[in-house]
Amino acid sequence: MMSYLDSLFNLEGKVAILTGGGGVLASKMAEGLVRAGAKVVLLGLHIEKVQKCADAMAAIGGDAFPVETNVLDKEALEKTREIILAKYGRIDILINAAGGNMPGATISPDKTFFDLKMDDFQKVTDLNLNGTVLPTLVFGEAMAKQKKGSIINISSMAALQAITRVVGYSAAKAAVSNFTQWTATEFAQKFGDGVRVNAIAPGFFIAEQNRALLTNSDGTYTERGQKVINNTPMGRFGEAEELIGAILYLSGDASKFVTGAVLPVDGGFSIFSGV
Ligand code: NAD
Repeated sequence: MMSYLDSLFNLEGKVAILTGGGGVLASKMAEGLVRAGAKVVLLGLHIEKVQKCADAMAAIGGDAFPVETNVLDKEALEKTREIILAKYGRIDILINAAGGNMPGATISPDKTFFDLKMDDFQKVTDLNLNGTVLPTLVFGEAMAKQKKGSIINISSMAALQAITRVVGYSAAKAAVSNFTQWTATEFAQKFGDGVRVNAIAPGFFIAEQNRALLTNSDGTYTERGQKVINNTPMGRFGEAEELIGAILYLSGDASKFVTGAVLPVDGGFSIFSGV
């Protein structure tokens, strides 16, 4: 008989897609899903990167399938959906983890808003917002047909309050939070209570894109890194594996009646006044 905890958190037999599957945070989330019994499909722009993550999953006994796909290419996503359905027959979990910032959509201290490069602003909003909308359209449809599925988007602290410099990224992540609430409502009303959409809002985790902004080469914090730490009641950055609990909770039946939530995983950054 399945244990009480298993009935809430076990993902045995579930098929989970992660976009940006070779990324720093997504590869840890994939590890958590595999350890909870899910089969993971890792979508990435470059097959080498997702293959590496799939190999790491295989090394811990996980079933991981890497696919090269661009989250901004609807046709490619549709082909990917057919491949996944032919291989596994269903899609249970979608984690929209492809995303990130771009230097041109950022206002450095020596510049002002009026130096913003519109092309880069568009690229960053495309990746973070449309790169969440398109996989939801394509893979969400399979969930709507099954009347069962859990979608998890990745928002950010930048969606909640102004964080200097990151103007494009913030606008896009605020839209991701809103899109989470909008689709949660739409799916529950039109496809029943089995199809849920939530998001996590990670605080500050050292990853490829922000390492140079937050830490110096000798490991000490930059001025900006120190400001983040000062504003984080726990006084440290997050570790990628600290997202796993939130992902497992939102993926399975433990959160059966939860939809449209944006869950901060941030050491308290979002609730602290700084005083
Ligand atoms: P990452 O750069 O390691 O991962 C992002 C992945 O997305 C990369 O592997 C990249 O190749 C992939 N990607 C980019 N464009 C793509 C496209 N068009 N199609 C498919 N894949 C594409 O970054 P990360 O820090 O692991 O971030 C993962 C998510 O978490 C992002 O949405 C990011 O904005 C968000 N986030 C990160 C932090 C943090 O502190 N690291 C905080 C809040 C939110």
